[in-house]
Amino acid sequence: MENEMTLQFSAISENEALARMTLTFFIAALDPTLEEISEYKTIISEAATNAIIHGYAEDPAGVVEIRAKLDGREVTVSITDHGGGIADVNEAMQPMFTTKPEAERSGMGFTIMESFADHLEVQSRPGSGTTVTFKK
Ligand code: ATP
Ligand code: MG
Repeated sequence: MENEMTLQFSAISENEALARMTLTFFIAALDPTLEEISEYKTIISEAATNAIIHGYAEDPAGVVEIRAKLDGREVTVSITDHGGGIADVNEAMQPMFTTKPEAERSGMGFTIMESFADHLEVQSRPGSGTTVTFKK
């Protein structure tokens, strides 16, 4: 089956659930197992939360965009923000690296995303934003 969707929302933490549920409905066509659903939800929550809190510092004027594509049984999802960007992507992706330790962040978001996705790529430019793309 082939299908595509785009979702845009304001950078407020309430919208993390919107991203999670929308992706869950989108992949329902693949008849995923509960475990697969939970893995998709985790990846999208981590990426959307990062866009909202790190990319935009929860500025509701910020717009987060999620694009998802189904091609047969392959799912490709990208999460884009036009926020602050990441100075050093390799460093940011290290387990336990966080720039917000005071906010009870564990720095495990990227590590978790990588463990559940078949492929994960992060493109970022300081000052212009970040796109996380994953395949599963
Ligand atoms: P956790 O996800 O465990 O709550 P965290 O968000 O700090 O903690 P990661 O998700 O692994 O950990 O992200 C690591 C770091 O990468 C963040 O602390 C932040 O500095 C940076 N980062 C991640 N996503 C973005 C983004 N969309 N825009 C700007 N910086 C980001
Ligand atoms: Mg995170």
